[in-house]
Amino acid sequence: MSTTDTKRGDEPASDLDRTDAILRTENLIKTFGSFAAIDGVNIAVERGEFRSIIGPNGAGKTTLFNLVSGALPATAGSVYFDGEEITDLPPQERIRRGMGRSFQISNIFGGLTVRENVRLAAQARHRGEYSFLESLFKPTDRYEDIDADTDGIIDRIGLADVAEEHAAALPYGDKRRLEIGVVLATDHDLVLFDEPTAGMGPQETDDTIDLIQEVLADQTLVLVEHDIELVMELSDTITVLHQGQVLAEGTPEEVADDRDVQDAYLGGVVE
Ligand code: ADP
Ligand code: MG
Repeated sequence: MSTTDTKRGDEPASDLDRTDAILRTENLIKTFGSFAAIDGVNIAVERGEFRSIIGPNGAGKTTLFNLVSGALPATAGSVYFDGEEITDLPPQERIRRGMGRSFQISNIFGGLTVRENVRLAAQARHRGEYSFLESLFKPTDRYEDIDADTDGIIDRIGLADVAEEHAAALPYGDKRRLEIGVVLATDHDLVLFDEPTAGMGPQETDDTIDLIQEVLADQTLVLVEHDIELVMELSDTITVLHQGQVLAEGTPEEVADDRDVQDAYLGGVVE
């Protein structure tokens, strides 16, 4: 087919019909000056998938997340969310459509308590469920739902004992758990986590990934994680980025067996 000059947004339908991808990128490119941090990336993440993105430092993982979440504008190429092109949409609009991202602690309000942080996020989740009039006349039901959600999430992230503490006063690991709680409370269709376990020891890393996996069981998760053993154990699909390009993609077994991956990245880590 010679549809080489297809306009952006104009008939990407053939590809979209082929896949039920909740997230798709097409020839995505991001340059900083003459350097291509993301250099023609095509990925398609299916609904419900647990996708991990791995690759050495500087491979472009965070930049890819920035393009998907809208934190950075793409230089070229396209991003589709739930079948619709979102390449040029602002971050807030992507969030409104159901995309969630953990911004490494910056989505926590230090001056609010743990409970207030989670409640604020849960409130946003319930916003669409009641009309303005209903929320005026049935405020109690509404608040009961939100309170129940809030308590449930605080329990699941293991912060019930410190629920009334200010977020700023929490130790690092608890802050990260709260951050996960805030993402969970907002009930996104797609959640992007960029190294949620950065700075954690092995046990805490295990616990955190367990928590993410448990509470996000019904959602689509794209995870950047440096603990390769965990990634191998948990992911449905792994995308290996290398120098801004997809070096390999497949099941954990396929990726572990890939010669290019072994040479470029995994080295002796995976036998
Ligand atoms: P990763 O998350 O895989 O470690 P990054 O996406 O953070 O990699 O970075 C990919 C490459 O792009 C790196 O070489 C990094 O130095 C470069 N880079 C990232 N952000 C910028 C920026 N704002 N300006 C210039 N170079 C950048
Ligand atoms: Mg990074």
